Amino acid sequence: MKIICIGRNYIDHAKELNNDVPTSPMIFMKPSTALLVDNKPFYHPEFSKKIHYEVEIVVKIAKNGKHIDPAFVEQYYDEVGLGIDFTARDLQDELKSKGHPWEMAKAFDHSAVVSHFISVKELPNKDNINFQLIKNEQVVQIGATKDMIFSIDTLLVYASKFFTLQKGDLIFTGTPAGVGKIEVGDNFVGKLENKEMFNCLVK
Ligand code: ZN
Repeated sequence: MKIICIGRNYIDHAKELNNDVPTSPMIFMKPSTALLVDNKPFYHPEFSKKIHYEVEIVVKIAKNGKHIDPAFVEQYYDEVGLGIDFTARDLQDELKSKGHPWEMAKAFDHSAVVSHFISVKELPNKDNINFQLIKNEQVVQIGATKDMIFSIDTLLVYASKFFTLQKGDLIFTGTPAGVGKIEVGDNFVGKLENKEMFNCLVK
């Protein structure tokens, strides 16, 4: 399986990092070794002094698709979850300044926290999913998918022009504003429509 991630999909987050608002989805990937599931702790790696949390809605692909027709895109996903896209921001800034790829800053082991999944049918409104990240019992990020620059449907259609989407692939759909640095001992809880989805302790 692969993890396709979308960068800068919320205007307020693009602005907080002084990035331009994209005119087409910005895509990068993480390998399957980036997955961190079952509420396992995250061990802070030594290669970074500034790892940021980014809470994101995660969409699970339900069947294989290439060049997905926008009229049928809803058939290609039926479950959503919540995750953290851990990002070594210091390394990313260095790589960006050199014009190098981001993988070392974004795709390292356990950089993709993923919760359990819930059926899209259980959501009050599939086109406006509310979520938040709580750090040490304080809300640090609040998001709603209605604020995405590119909707879930648009992202799947677009990504499938370049990469065949396969059953079980995950799409990280971008983070709202409020990202910040993690410290050893921090505890992160992710909520989707007020339901606790994951709990991740930094060790
Ligand atoms: Zn992200």
